[in-house]
Amino acid sequence: MSEIRIANPVRTAGILRRHGLFAKKKYGQNFLIDEGILSEIVEASGVDSGDLAVEIGPGIGAMTEFLCERAGQVLAIEIDERLIPVLEETLARFDNLTVINADVLKTDIGAWANENAPGKRIRVVANLPYYITTPILMALLEGDAPIASITVMVQKEVAERMISDPGTKDYGALSLAVQYYADPRIVTEVPAEAFDPRPGVESAVITLEKYEAPPVDVPDEKLLFDIIRASFSQRRKTLANGLGNSPDIPLGKEEITGVITDCGWDERIRGEILTLSEFAKLTQMIYTKLG
Ligand code: SAM
Repeated sequence: MSEIRIANPVRTAGILRRHGLFAKKKYGQNFLIDEGILSEIVEASGVDSGDLAVEIGPGIGAMTEFLCERAGQVLAIEIDERLIPVLEETLARFDNLTVINADVLKTDIGAWANENAPGKRIRVVANLPYYITTPILMALLEGDAPIASITVMVQKEVAERMISDPGTKDYGALSLAVQYYADPRIVTEVPAEAFDPRPGVESAVITLEKYEAPPVDVPDEKLLFDIIRASFSQRRKTLANGLGNSPDIPLGKEEITGVITDCGWDERIRGEILTLSEFAKLTQMIYTKLG
């Protein structure tokens, strides 16, 4: 590699200045300027020549450059049209890259991959825009695209919620949703100095290795997630109260208490101590009750 990396702080500043660009807050733009962190993220993603790497928000191409060097193919989806000519310039030497100017939440990654990279394993790698981290992750986890893994920079607090266990303060609907679809692991924490501009929150890289099939069996996934949401909607209330107050679960208070005791639990139990398997069991019982 003779050329200076895009992530080099002086080069990044130069690219932005030459194109008359400034980081747009509304798009969550915090560009990575630490080559060591970028190497670590791409290494942790496991991306190799058999893969289609999908990058959400390439920015000026700091991470894309690393991905293009390792992946068979790269698809980069960027919402900010100002960055498209920049990417054409900074990444001109790669012929395995496609840049799309679009909102990732409106992009059918599965259809694109089917048409343009058939047979390739899909790995998502990104320094995510923090303002829409959860919608992006949920769309990737719940969607039809056959994604093998997701390795992303997120707020440290969000990463901690994703890996947390029952009964801990960070445990909630996000932990359960992520753990239903994937095995999450924090790769590393990242200091604010690794970005330009520096974010006002702490960051961490997390890898979600997607399961081929969820680790628990439920008769109705929507009901499982309705139950989980209702159980955490009023954190300090009992499970019976949370479920009883939910418009998504059309059972009376007594029926709900009956289901909880039939599960073998105290009727004053709180949802925040239930494991994913226990939520699956509860879903099965409520599903049967609903007929
Ligand atoms: N990957 C670059 C890096 O690491 O330096 C930039 C990361 S920056 C945190 C987030 C990027 O996501 C920005 O380039 C931003 O414009 C882009 N972005 C924000 N919302 C998006 C969306 N809905 N769809 C696609 N890209 C988006």
